[in-house]
Amino acid sequence: MQSPLQSLDIAIGAVGALPQPGLLPAGVPPASDAEVAQAMLALRKGATLRLLGDDVLLWPGLPSLVGKARAAGAAHVTVQTTALPLLRPGVAAAVKAMGVSGLLVPLFGADAEGHDHLVGRPGAFAATLRGLRAARAADLRLEIFAVALRPTMRSLDALVARALPLPIDALHVVVPGPGSDAPPAWLPHPALAAPFVVRAMTLAVAARRRVTVRGVPPCLLGEMGALACELAPAPPAIDADSALLAAAIARQFMTQAVDACGDCRWHACCPGVSVRQVERFGATGIVARKDAPPRGGLAAPRRPRLDSRVAIADVSLESRS
Ligand code: SF4
Repeated sequence: MQSPLQSLDIAIGAVGALPQPGLLPAGVPPASDAEVAQAMLALRKGATLRLLGDDVLLWPGLPSLVGKARAAGAAHVTVQTTALPLLRPGVAAAVKAMGVSGLLVPLFGADAEGHDHLVGRPGAFAATLRGLRAARAADLRLEIFAVALRPTMRSLDALVARALPLPIDALHVVVPGPGSDAPPAWLPHPALAAPFVVRAMTLAVAARRRVTVRGVPPCLLGEMGALACELAPAPPAIDADSALLAAAIARQFMTQAVDACGDCRWHACCPGVSVRQVERFGATGIVARKDAPPRGGLAAPRRPRLDSRVAIADVSLESRS
C-alpha cells in the first residue's frame, strides 16, 4: 500500500488560448490516465490537489476528475487557469459548484503594458483582472503566480501590490530558468532577480499571505531565505509500491546540488537550484550556508534525486538535463 498523500500537484496538459511564457517547463509530458488514477488512490482525506496546465478550466476532463478527487476525500482542489474562461456569465459559479475550491492564475506584469506584451495579446491584462474578480464573486480562493521575466521583473512588487487587494490568498513567485518555454532573452539571472523577489515577498508577508518561491534558492534571498526555506514543503513519505507515482513525487522535490553548494547546511530545505541555470549564468551568489537551517529545514530529510518521466510538476523542473 502506498502512503496517503496530503498534497499533490498534477500536470494535466490542458492547453489554453493564451501563451504562458516560462510558467511550466517546455516539453513536459502531462500525466497519463493511469498516473492520474494512481494519484486519486493515493489522496488522503483532507488532502490538497492542484491541477496544473495552461488553462485547466478548458480541459474537458475537469468535472470528472474534480468529482473523483472530492470522492477520494480531497478537501481542496485548486486549478490553474488564465481566468479568461470566467468572463462568460455563470462559469465562475459553475466551477465552484463543480467542487473546485480555488484558482491559480499567472500574472506576467503589474500592468497591461508588461503583461500583454509578454503573452502577446492586447487586452489580456484587463480581461484577466475581470476574470479574477468574477472568481472572487463566486467565492473561489485565489492564488497568483507572479512570473519574473527580464522585461517586467523590476515591477514585481507593483504586481504584488496590485494583486493583494483582490484579495488573494497566496503568492507564488516564479523565476523561470533555462528549459522553460520562455524566450532565452527573457530569462533573468537568478541573482539579479533576487532583490525584486525579496521585495515582492516582503509585501506579501506584511499582508500575511502565504508565499512560495521557485527558481531562486534561499541563499540568494537574504532575510527572506529563511522563510523560503522554512515554507518549502517537506517531501511526502511514500512507499515505492507504485514506482510511477513515487518517481513523479520525487520529481517534485528534486534538488540539484552544484559545486558551489558544497556542504550547505540548508540543502535539505532548499527547493532546488537548476544545473542548467548554473551552466548558463554561473553560480554567482550561491554560497553554502554554514548557519543552522530554519526550523522546517532541520526536520526535512534530504530529498531524492530521480530523473523520471514527469507527471507531476513543480519546482526545478527546468533542471532535468
Ligand atoms: S543548497 Fe546550494 S542553492 Fe540551496 S541554499 Fe544551499 S548553497 Fe544555496
